[in-house]
Amino acid sequence: MSVVPQPWPQPAPQIAADIASMYRGKRERPLPVLVRGKLGEWLSDGQFAGAYGVRGKPGWPPSRLALVTIFQKAENLTGRQAAEHVRTRIDWKYALGLDLADPGSGHSVLSEFRARVAGGGLDQAVLDTLLERLAASGLVGAGGKMRTDSTHVISAVRDLNRLELAGESVRACLEQLAVAAPQVVAQLLDDSWGKRYAARIDTWRMPASETKRNELALAYGRDGHALLKAVYAAASSDPDLAFLTRLHQAGVLRVVLLQNYLAVEGKHGQAVIRRREADTEGLPPGRSRITSPYDLDARWSVKRDTFWNGYKVHVTETCGTGGARDGCTVAGSNSGSDGHGGDGEAAPPPHLIVNVETTDATVPDNQMTAPVHARLAGRGLLPAEHYVDSGYPSAELLVSSLADFGIALVTPMLADTSPQARAGAGYDRTAFAIDFDAQQATCPQGHASSSWNPVTQRGTETIVITFAKGTCRPCPVRAQCTTSAAGRRQLTVHPRQVHEAQLAARAAQDTRDFQARYALRAGVEGTIRQGVAVTGMRRARYRGLDKTRLEHTYAATALNLIRLEAWWNHRPRGGWTGPAPATSRPSNSSWRRETRINHQGQHQVAFRQSPIFPEHPPPAILGLPELAAGS
Ligand code: SF4
Repeated sequence: MSVVPQPWPQPAPQIAADIASMYRGKRERPLPVLVRGKLGEWLSDGQFAGAYGVRGKPGWPPSRLALVTIFQKAENLTGRQAAEHVRTRIDWKYALGLDLADPGSGHSVLSEFRARVAGGGLDQAVLDTLLERLAASGLVGAGGKMRTDSTHVISAVRDLNRLELAGESVRACLEQLAVAAPQVVAQLLDDSWGKRYAARIDTWRMPASETKRNELALAYGRDGHALLKAVYAAASSDPDLAFLTRLHQAGVLRVVLLQNYLAVEGKHGQAVIRRREADTEGLPPGRSRITSPYDLDARWSVKRDTFWNGYKVHVTETCGTGGARDGCTVAGSNSGSDGHGGDGEAAPPPHLIVNVETTDATVPDNQMTAPVHARLAGRGLLPAEHYVDSGYPSAELLVSSLADFGIALVTPMLADTSPQARAGAGYDRTAFAIDFDAQQATCPQGHASSSWNPVTQRGTETIVITFAKGTCRPCPVRAQCTTSAAGRRQLTVHPRQVHEAQLAARAAQDTRDFQARYALRAGVEGTIRQGVAVTGMRRARYRGLDKTRLEHTYAATALNLIRLEAWWNHRPRGGWTGPAPATSRPSNSSWRRETRINHQGQHQVAFRQSPIFPEHPPPAILGLPELAAGS
């Protein structure tokens, strides 16, 4: 399939006239109508050409499929519902420039579009384009304040335990082989295989007895090995069947067996299949362990009381009060030039999402701080201050963010984890005076250290400072200082710049000034709630990291448009810090946090229900073509 770039058709005259008649005066116009009216033709087919071939029949224009996908996320619709909305919704037809009788496209066209764009690495194209447009209009910019937080994302596949994973991996491989080479499968099957693999593993109850579960686990392991043996034997004996070893599910089964089973030599030299046990043979680390044969990127992870299989999404948004210091140059005069009337009150622009990053669930937050900054740098939207919780910074990141990107991280630092600091008794690191020029530390008893060793520990530069045994052994307060068997105190500190930045940050974070300033970060929780409730961000709709990433980027674009729509329609945003708006803010009391126990007996946390957070009333917007009444 190829792309033949074509401009978006103007809204059909009959539809434009009907819309203008329906939304006359101060009646709020729906999001698709406002987006087309305010932003015009803001996406182009050429942006997506890289995801399509140069030959073949041109399909639906990709820029308008992208717009449909954004509207789909804005209303949290399935692909089928979105395709139906293209056929039946007059506001969608207006935005897409379709005639009333236009049948639109099938839902599979949207699915193919997602697969092509995700596979072609163009998942960020829509957010990049919208932000460029907003930056040109002065609604976002570099040098302001931004805040970031992350939340868990549950994968689109069924949660499986290790036993179920082994069984379902064998079943998935059997299914694929049965289509590709039924003769290979026929040689293996007997009645017992039918019992184990006729139905999906999650459609029947696993045996309750531990012994029977172990037997079943071994049967899965033996079946899996027998199946792969048959595949490799068939591929080596017949060149026409060589492709069997490249079957997707055969590769998955091989990895699942490697990660969960051992083939050892029995007493008589025969191969014996055994399960890997965490305590004895060890299991691969969670970051590389496959959790489902149908989604190879999903991973198990745990955060406090939330245990989930899937991904993690990091959302970054602007959080200033508007104005040049926040990188925003929109004046904030609500002149009402779009015919919706303004009262002249200054109104800062809405907080807008400037970045989303999706990773598998095992990636810690602090590994995403630098990638978030690099992405913002690429967009020309680096903030001066970045508000994050204590999961994102490290002592090194405090310094490197400032040095590499000019960003001051506004964040509490994690507490000192030394045994003395954790116990709240004895001499922790702060009790020692460190002289980096003289390369010496002085302990609370006034003794100088005996050695100063710069080393690299787990890829990080540190300095190990040691006090002499002869100094510490006779010390009267040794019990408060060290429990080392060697009887001497050892300290590990960061290099000078990092050490000083960490001390300064820890000293500052207890002040009232810092706490008042840091309160700005909390607003991003509301954005995540909005993303979860409005776009379904916390539950992946598609399988695989690429498509989940694309889903989140389109969700972020949709949330930006929802916020702009509220602003264009003069609705105040939540978290308003200026004078109280005339209309009361909607209560967030309908939010509730629910803890439930899943089928594996694990606690899961979910948030239910949310209002769409309203935005500030807009000033004259963007300097873009207004919706032409009656055109
Ligand atoms: S134990 Fe050693 S380092 Fe600690 S206070 Fe006594 S002399 Fe100083």
